[in-house]
Formats: sequence, structure tokens, C-alpha cells
Amino acid sequence: MLTQKRVLVTGGAGFLGSHLCERLLASGAEVLCLDNYYCSTRSNVHHLLWHNRFELIRHDVCFPIYLEVDEIYNLACPASPVHYQRDPVQTMKTSVSGAINMLGLAKRTHAKILQTSTSEVYGDPAVHPQSEDYWGNVNPHGLRSCYDEGKRAAESLFMDYHRQHGIRIKIARLFNTYGPRMHPEDGRVVSNFIMQALRNRPITLYGDGSQTRSFCFVHDMIDALLLLMDSPDEVTGPINLGNPGEFTILELAESVVRLCGSKSEIVRKPLPPDDPARRRPDITKAGKILGWSPCVKLEQGLESTIAYFEKVIRRGAVAEETD
Ligand code: UDP
Repeated sequence: MLTQKRVLVTGGAGFLGSHLCERLLASGAEVLCLDNYYCSTRSNVHHLLWHNRFELIRHDVCFPIYLEVDEIYNLACPASPVHYQRDPVQTMKTSVSGAINMLGLAKRTHAKILQTSTSEVYGDPAVHPQSEDYWGNVNPHGLRSCYDEGKRAAESLFMDYHRQHGIRIKIARLFNTYGPRMHPEDGRVVSNFIMQALRNRPITLYGDGSQTRSFCFVHDMIDALLLLMDSPDEVTGPINLGNPGEFTILELAESVVRLCGSKSEIVRKPLPPDDPARRRPDITKAGKILGWSPCVKLEQGLESTIAYFEKVIRRGAVAEETD
């Protein structure tokens, strides 16, 4: 009899996690979705609850958990600056204690474990585009450091568990990712701009909008995570995952207004401290090792994200007082 792979997804009810759970179920795996709903919602996985290979567990990765699993995707951590700065101590605990607990679980069960690290490990980069051998330019005590340093510490823990205990690890550095099921109020640029444009409200451009980001559509990102998990054991990463197309935030604002057919005006707001000036992944390594490169163009991805947020607004799923 064929035995099913049992896969744990921490942060499984979040934006990326819910897409990953869907794809793992489609591949025939048994999926344990673990979440504490700090910045995710059960509605993201509501459509999976009927599935007999899907199990939803309310749990905070800051505390140990005893499960039997073959693979772990460690996604649990708020990722938007608004969310991760709301309770910075908890953000650091989630990254560090969460990594220790999940690595401990991997050690006990001999599971393979993948860490979703971040482009934030490069801080405000002095090297452009960013490749994996660049060590970064991170402010160790700024408003972003709970996330940046937390994720850096987690990478270090993953490498040490690998070297010291022989754990099979994978470290993915995710650049900005967007798509359906982003939280409409997570404060990130794509969700903010689309929600503002659809309601004909002012588009809040921080700074002069000349800062750049590279935006990867969620389906491309999930493809890459699955390929990385399935790569040979000697592939540990870190490996950059993202879309190398680079846009200024002003360009993004203009595209969103146009694609939404919106009457919104673009208004300037102060630039938050330590906001990186430029960000673009060098994905040469992902191309060579995983044979992966993203295929969804920004405009195409924005259209499907806009369609999703239109539905959210129609359903009235966003609190009235935010109107
Ligand atoms: N940003 C903006 N208006 C917003 C939200 C964000 O101009 O309403 C800018 C922000 O200052 C940053 C970029 O958009 O330069 C991306 O911000 P986000 O919070 O999405 O993620 P980050 O890449 O900074 O972690």
C-alpha cells in the first residue's frame, strides 16, 4: 500500500500558507495546517475543511508541539511591516522560538524542513540586485529589526541544526509576493493600493515613490517552494525566490489606478524609517538548481488580485468603519 506523505504547514491559514495547503492536497499529501490566527483567518482555508486529508490545528509555534510528520514548511510569522511591528517582541519570538520548536520537531521525526526566510535579511541593500552571497545591510535595532534580525537568527539556527544534527533543511528567501487572499488590511503596498483604488480613495504613496520592489505572484512562489522542498538533500539554500521585474512604487500606484479604472488621486505620505530604497532578487541560483523562474507578469497578477479584492468588498468582508 502506498503511504501518504504527511506535511505540516505552519502559518497554513495565512496568505501563502493557504495556497500551499491547497497545492499539497492536490499532490496527494496529507496536510496538517497549523495557525494561531494572529494575522490570518480561518476563512482562507474554509474551503479545505471538508477534505479528509486536511486537518486544521490552532497552535502558536512559540510553544512545542508533538506530531508525526515527514515534511515541515515553516511559514508562521507576520510578514507585513504593519503586522510585524504591532507586537515586535512576539515577532522575534515567533521567528526564533518558532524555528527552534519546528527544528526540534524535525529532529525528532527525521522530517525535512523548509524555512521561509525573506529578502529583509538584506536590509537596505548596498548591492543590487541582491544575490545569496550578499550579507546585507540591516539596522539591528530599528523598527524593522524584530523581523529582519528574527529571520536572520532563524537562518542561522537552520544552518546549525543542519551542521550539528544533520537535519535536512531548505532556506528560501522570499521577495515581495502578492495575490488573492492577501489580507485587505495588512498595510502592504499591493493590498493598500488596490483597496484604495477600488474605493476611489487617495492612494497613499510613502516618500516620493522612487523606491523599488519586485513583485512575485503567489502561484509562481508556491511552485518554487514545492520544487525547493523536493530538491536533493544537498540543496540547503539560502536561495532567493521572487520575480526580478523591478518597479518603482509610483509606477505600481499608477498601474493599479489604471487597472482598477479608478478616480483615486495619488497623495504623498512620509516614508517609514529604514524603508529599503531598492530591492530586486538575483534568481540565477533558483534557475540553475530548481529550473524555476516566475511566469506571471505584474499586470496579469494585479488583474487577478484586483478581482479578488472586488469580491472581498462586495461580500462586505471588510469592517464598515474602515470605509
Ligand atoms: N508603501 C507605500 N504606500 C503604502 C504602503 C507601502 O508607498 O500604502 C511603500 C513602502 O513604503 C515600501 C513599499 O511600498 O517602500 C513596499 O511596502 P510593503 O509594506 O508592501 O513591504 P516592504 O517591501 O517594505 O516590506
